[in-house]
Amino acid sequence: MWKKRGIKSKAFFVFTIVASLIVIGVLVCQPVSSCYGPHITATISDTQININENVTVTGTVCLGLEEDLINLTVRVTFVRPDYSWIDQPVEADSETGEFSVTQKLDMAGYWNIFPIYGHINDRLGVTVIDPLADSSDPPPIVGSPFKPNLLLIAAAVTTVSIGAVFAVTGLKKKTRKISSFRLFIQVALVFLIFFGMFVDHEILPQPASKIPVHEFLVGTNVLGVSMSDGFPVPFFGCYYPCGKTVTCALWEIQTYIYPFWQTGRGWGVDYNSSGLVRLAVVFAAIILLSVLLGKFFCGWVCPFGLYMDLLTYLRKAVKIPHRDFSEVFNKKFHQLGYVILALLIVLSVIFGSEAIAGAQLVSGTEEGGFVYQYFSAPFCQVCPMKPFCVLLESTVGLIRPEWIFQVTTGAFYELGYYVTSLNLLVLGVVTAAAFFYRRSWCRICPLGALIALFNRFPPFKWVSLFRLDKVEEKCTKCGICKRVCPTQVTEVYDKKGGDVTTSNCIMCLRCVEMCPYEDALRLKAAGKTVLKSRNWLK
Ligand code: SF4
Ligand code: SF4
Ligand code: SF4
Repeated sequence: MWKKRGIKSKAFFVFTIVASLIVIGVLVCQPVSSCYGPHITATISDTQININENVTVTGTVCLGLEEDLINLTVRVTFVRPDYSWIDQPVEADSETGEFSVTQKLDMAGYWNIFPIYGHINDRLGVTVIDPLADSSDPPPIVGSPFKPNLLLIAAAVTTVSIGAVFAVTGLKKKTRKISSFRLFIQVALVFLIFFGMFVDHEILPQPASKIPVHEFLVGTNVLGVSMSDGFPVPFFGCYYPCGKTVTCALWEIQTYIYPFWQTGRGWGVDYNSSGLVRLAVVFAAIILLSVLLGKFFCGWVCPFGLYMDLLTYLRKAVKIPHRDFSEVFNKKFHQLGYVILALLIVLSVIFGSEAIAGAQLVSGTEEGGFVYQYFSAPFCQVCPMKPFCVLLESTVGLIRPEWIFQVTTGAFYELGYYVTSLNLLVLGVVTAAAFFYRRSWCRICPLGALIALFNRFPPFKWVSLFRLDKVEEKCTKCGICKRVCPTQVTEVYDKKGGDVTTSNCIMCLRCVEMCPYEDALRLKAAGKTVLKSRNWLK
């Protein structure tokens, strides 16, 4: 049987087993000591005070290893509502690891507080009230101390401008019209997706705490439910950059199933009350977008898809030919996306079992526990998109760069709030793979799998707006569509006409663009042909 299946099949089987063992190992293995790595837990004395009153942050750092005793300095950063901050270094007790620090809070509004010891503790927060302030008169905005990195922004603008020139030039070529237009749309949408980050509170005349920027940009109030984390979308519009206009569906699924029910962050679902309405609205938005627009999000919108396309352009520029998986391997590889999606949903349900059903299925899911601290959004800890988002956030001056790397230099299990070693490792592997194998991540992307579930299979397939159609009599079996497809879809070539849309097609329309036979391939929207192949050889 093995001989028949071939080496790639075996490799896929072994890879699945190893990956499953690693996941099980990480979840089941207990840390070597009662605490693990550079770990910190902390609580705050009050969550609401009057202006110029004190709050006290008390906590404990892990002293599990000898070397932990060398540096016992904890930094507690109190971030004002205007994003200026006060750093308070404090020495933890060398016997117990305990520390305590008191700070006067001198500005009304919401303060974020970050106790940092190698790893950033879950964020704490305090609302500061000024009893003398006229509530109709918002406090003046103090200039943010986060200075945009002009050099990086200039480099980004230059790169995008060069891309725009390429896109416009490509429009003149018969076989690059759709691709060039697509590239243009992808680049433009990156700015729209992260628009909130660029304008944020520094430009708008209202304090960010009063009117979140994204409320100006998208319908954030749906059926009376505020979409305070951004509108849920089925592509990697990452949750982690602040000022976001949209938020990735995978984050929504993980955090709405596994609620952070005691942190007061605002997104947790209360399974006994109207929180369920919020859950329903978020899931309905994700499903509706997937049903109607499907994988257009992958081909035309997703910023990570754009990243892989840029790698392809780079590979072509240095004249290295692409590689293809075998057809059998590619089909099996594609199934992995559904496995990852199922895994993250099952884990979220297991982790959230106490809130959902009143019984904790695994330990560590309680507040401050191992799972709660590190795996509350398990996929985000390995997601290859996250480093880009946090880096972009730092570039426009919304996050302190040192926070990004706070947890990326240690062992893999040192997972944290921002980028982790695992995020960088996965990004490295995906980058190398996508350079040679076009859109390789798309083939196993759990978000792509989610869209496919609600778009490419009955009954959703019947109501989906877009589909690829083939006119069998006009197809000469030249095989161009098969060769140019970035995800190695073979059905457009193999099928005997009619609907040829498949679950791993990203709707890039390269096949329609490159098919040299008039009207052999068509893009249909709501049953009407909106685009068809042309004889570009004329
Ligand atoms: S880290 Fe990845 S999965 Fe998580 S919210 Fe960001 S893009 Fe989505
Ligand atoms: S490129 Fe067009 S003509 Fe050639 S196989 Fe594909 S659909 Fe048929
Ligand atoms: S089948 Fe066509 S539209 Fe779909 S991914 Fe391949 S080239 Fe793009």
